[in-house]
Amino acid sequence: MQESCHAAPLVSCYNLVMNMRRLCLFLALVCLALPAMAAVQYDGDMRIVRVKLVVDEEFKQFHLDGENYAKAIISSASDILEKLGKVRLVVSEAGDWKSPNDATGALDMVTALQEQVSLGDADMVIGFTAQWPSTREIALRRVEGGIASIFERYALIREPQGGRECFVESVIHEIGHAFGLQHVKDDGSFMRPATSPNPIFTLDQVNTDVLQITRAVDLAKGMDDLSDEKLDKLTALYQKLASAFPEGDGPPYALSLISKRKLDEALAKAKAAVEKSPDDVSARRNLAALSLQAGDYAGSESGYREITRKLPDDADARNGLGLALLHQGKVQHAAQELQEAVRLKPEDAAVHANLANALRAMGQFDRAISEYREAMRISPDVFEAHANLASILGRQGKMDEAAQEYQKAISINPNQGAVRCDYGVVLLSMGRLEEATQEFQAAIRLDPDLSAAHNNLALIFRSQGKIEEAMLHFREAIRSAPGNVSARLDLGMLLMNTGKLQEAAKEFKSGLAASPESPAAADLHNSLGIVFAMQGKMEEAMQEFREAIRLRPDFPIAHNGLGIIYAQRGQIDDAMKEFQEAIRIKPDFAPSHGGLAMAYYTKKQYADAWKEAHLCLKYGGKLDPEFRKALTEEMPEPSEQ
Ligand SMILES: [Zn+2]
Repeated sequence: MQESCHAAPLVSCYNLVMNMRRLCLFLALVCLALPAMAAVQYDGDMRIVRVKLVVDEEFKQFHLDGENYAKAIISSASDILEKLGKVRLVVSEAGDWKSPNDATGALDMVTALQEQVSLGDADMVIGFTAQWPSTREIALRRVEGGIASIFERYALIREPQGGRECFVESVIHEIGHAFGLQHVKDDGSFMRPATSPNPIFTLDQVNTDVLQITRAVDLAKGMDDLSDEKLDKLTALYQKLASAFPEGDGPPYALSLISKRKLDEALAKAKAAVEKSPDDVSARRNLAALSLQAGDYAGSESGYREITRKLPDDADARNGLGLALLHQGKVQHAAQELQEAVRLKPEDAAVHANLANALRAMGQFDRAISEYREAMRISPDVFEAHANLASILGRQGKMDEAAQEYQKAISINPNQGAVRCDYGVVLLSMGRLEEATQEFQAAIRLDPDLSAAHNNLALIFRSQGKIEEAMLHFREAIRSAPGNVSARLDLGMLLMNTGKLQEAAKEFKSGLAASPESPAAADLHNSLGIVFAMQGKMEEAMQEFREAIRLRPDFPIAHNGLGIIYAQRGQIDDAMKEFQEAIRIKPDFAPSHGGLAMAYYTKKQYADAWKEAHLCLKYGGKLDPEFRKALTEEMPEPSEQ
């Protein structure tokens, strides 16, 4: 019980629990929100993990005795974990859950699992599913067998293709993640990134060492339950894993969690030190630097100001002050301070690079470039200097130079997804499609949430006619940035062109909901109008075309759409007005010339009809053969003038 009570409460823990239970009888909903009073349990020296097991509806269809089948898998997984890490899985509760059939990936599935299933007294919830929603999307996100985050308490296990033993491997793999284990390249470890039909039930040495540290963790507290000493050991192990498997994103994330916790602790200590001796410059410097690291820029600014007041020629404090100002968007003041720091410390590459960043933010690109070059002269391997210089050169249209700098940056640090994506954009504009594709794919491997990389990849695939892949990446672009209106527009168009009108309309509507007044809103209304027209909903279609025109009066396609609907309704004069307006805006707009031709035909003005028909053809449009035949019957085609 001690584990669960931090402060000495006025009532004893026992009473607290009793009171909660009593309340729960009346307030079942509140009860769900209360943290479970889970403490770490042992049987001798065997760590017990209480598992709440749930199976989804497809799983029960697939396996006649679903719950018991799942229990048997957990029990086999437990046998392995007991031998390898002295961790035993005990099913403390079992039941059902309903996997969402509209899930677009494993992330949606695990979110639904978290929403539906409470932990109760269990340490972990393991949700089984036999649903394969958008299998390819899951493959894209590299989540084959399931999903679990480190030190989190929900794991989703998906029906594997390889049968029961593969199931067992999936379970121990995901539970491994929950206990902080990371992917390894080693094919002899069940922590390999992807499973195969030949399951593996052994664990590599480094992850075995990790498990020795984390097996005692109270999952309710996660990393906060580890002592400083254990965290240091864990840090060393994660660094080992990161250098052995640089493509993996798990260890860097875990290390960032650890350093965040350490930073919080260091910050608290530094604050106390400044309060104790306010005149101690080194204590103040330490606090200002830590505040900067922790993102408390205003606090850092005032700390550094205090130091520069006392020591005006302190280059380090000027540099820190400059950075604190830069992060707050006070670019001019930042540049002044950093200029001063450069004067005081001319041979420091980082200070030059900081000044360059400030100048870049002010739009003084040429000065920024010369500062980046100065930084590189002093120290050739500053990643940020190369990457930021590359981005300026790209913006200035100097693509060859930009590409060179990106290559240097990536050779120093290949693991920055955003930089790989920016390099891809430069390659794309140079027409180097294949290399661009590779960079965007690398960017996504490093950061699956990089919306721009997905979007660019989708555009490439679309241009290559790979419509399925294009749609997949537009969807990912939207998932990682729901406000990405242009991706919704593009996805909607592809859906529309493949006849999926309802799905298309949904994307257009979502785009409008996300951003009703964006520049793309007129396009969204227009596209929605086309879908409605294709569905025969003419009133709605007209409304959308009118809305598109309201937002962008010079929009020939929307005028044309409106014209077609008027023509279908027999309102020929109204139709002609719209076609003529479209042509006034865009004289070579073929569809409206075609529309006018039909309108003149209806009015029996055959010579005018032929004139417009010829303009339509001249500007690359097509004539309906039936219409052409009908018009020829009324009046033979005149020779073009
Ligand atoms: Zn994994």
